[in-house]
Amino acid sequence: MCSAGSDAAGVMACARLSRLRCSGSWLRSGPGPRRLPPHRAHSEQPAPQSADPFNTQQHQALRESLRKIIEKEINPFVDKWEEEGIFPAHRIFKILGQAGFLGVNKPIEYGGLGLDFSYSMAVAEELGHIRCGGVPMAIGVQSDMATPALARFGSDELKRQFLTPTIAGDLVACLGVSEAEAGSDVANIKTKAVRKGDDYIINGGKMWITNGCQADWMCLLANTNDGPRHRNKSLICLPMNLEGIQVAKKIDKLGMRSSDTAQIFFEDVRVPSKYLIGKEGMGFTYQMLQFQEERMWGVAGMLVPMQNIIQETIEYTRQRKVFNQPILHNQTVHFRLAELETEIELLRSLLYRCVAQYIQGNDVTKLASMAKLKGGRLVREVTDSCLQYWGGMGFTNEVLVSRLFRDMRLMSIGAGTDEVMLSIICKYMGTIPESK
Ligand SMILES: Cc1cc2nc3c(=O)[nH]c(=O)nc-3n(C[C@H](O)[C@H](O)[C@H](O)COP(=O)(O)OP(=O)(O)OC[C@H]3O[C@@H](n4cnc5c(N)ncnc54)[C@H](O)[C@@H]3O)c2cc1C
Repeated sequence: MCSAGSDAAGVMACARLSRLRCSGSWLRSGPGPRRLPPHRAHSEQPAPQSADPFNTQQHQALRESLRKIIEKEINPFVDKWEEEGIFPAHRIFKILGQAGFLGVNKPIEYGGLGLDFSYSMAVAEELGHIRCGGVPMAIGVQSDMATPALARFGSDELKRQFLTPTIAGDLVACLGVSEAEAGSDVANIKTKAVRKGDDYIINGGKMWITNGCQADWMCLLANTNDGPRHRNKSLICLPMNLEGIQVAKKIDKLGMRSSDTAQIFFEDVRVPSKYLIGKEGMGFTYQMLQFQEERMWGVAGMLVPMQNIIQETIEYTRQRKVFNQPILHNQTVHFRLAELETEIELLRSLLYRCVAQYIQGNDVTKLASMAKLKGGRLVREVTDSCLQYWGGMGFTNEVLVSRLFRDMRLMSIGAGTDEVMLSIICKYMGTIPESK
């Protein structure tokens, strides 16, 4: 992981953000003000410091720059993509890749910006301004779900072949973990990659694969030997144009409709063994690590949609009168919205604490699982409660609240269900009964 953990390091790394072509003045053209040595700074001339390390000027500049792309290149087309059940991933990823948003925390030598994970969180949050859940999720798969293990454990050659073009938006990535018979129980996957000479021969199939209809390569989890289930798996970069790969169907879903989700089969697919990520047999461990970034990204991605829904609900209920008064004037309504807003801030604090520890190199499995559990439940409460205040309008397809009610239902299922999060937390609490 790249870590520009301190503010100073972050500022230096942010200089590289110049290719984001921000119009703001956050990048100084000349040298900054002379700073006193740290031990004297407090008494004589306080060095400028942000009170909130997750919301520095650099984070704000990143957000503003991304917001412009969202408003120009994405939001005007979301309704159409939702209707069509797919969005043009190659075109949108190219735009985001050129602006630097697909590899914010990835190493500079592979085209990333080399910033710390708090900047990835800023991007995930800002993507919440997209007026659906499907497109942000697809972007997250590309930037923070299919690529962390490759960036961390892949060989230089593999990173140049798959990571660099993915960060640039030239290749679309997907993550192949779940199978029809193994979702929560990842260790139970059946897809096999058997070594034959310099190749692996892959047989099996994957289910629920986001970006699966459009992807150029998959970060595939497969069994590479018959040993114990936590040590027999490997992650492999699998080009999706190989003979024997069949995208069997695009799954018709309740929500996330603009994101394509595929079922995929493999029959005697031959892939060079040098496409293995890191060490053979370490795939389960690598994927569990990769899940941490996916889960933190998922939580960050819920924050803005929840706040936007509350804001739109305030506006709607303020102007709509029932029994001769605005709906919002009922104490039960404005109190409920205040409660929900409070919960969102609590979730944000938990996430930021988790991310701060992650940036410092700590194991955050327990905190990330707690945040994912709480986020999945809270987003369901927020969308359900708000939808109620829209009355019949909330039940139409004309308002954002109904779309997010459907889309955000996934948050308690994808990237590990609530029950899986509870199991992980229980493991850390030492409360799971030992199996006999
Ligand atoms: C839209 C969408 C996109 C997805 N994208 C991807 C992707 O890109 N790549 C990928 O690999 N996967 C993806 N997934 C798969 C997702 O991660 C799985 O759906 C999820 O892990 C749950 O697995 P499952 O669907 O097999 O449910 P199951 O494992 O069958 O679980 C069903 C239910 O059983 C209950 N349950 C399970 N375990 C326990 C327990 N220990 N205690 C009590 N109850 C339990 C829970 O209520 C759970 O919801 C996606 C899924 C969806 C719907």
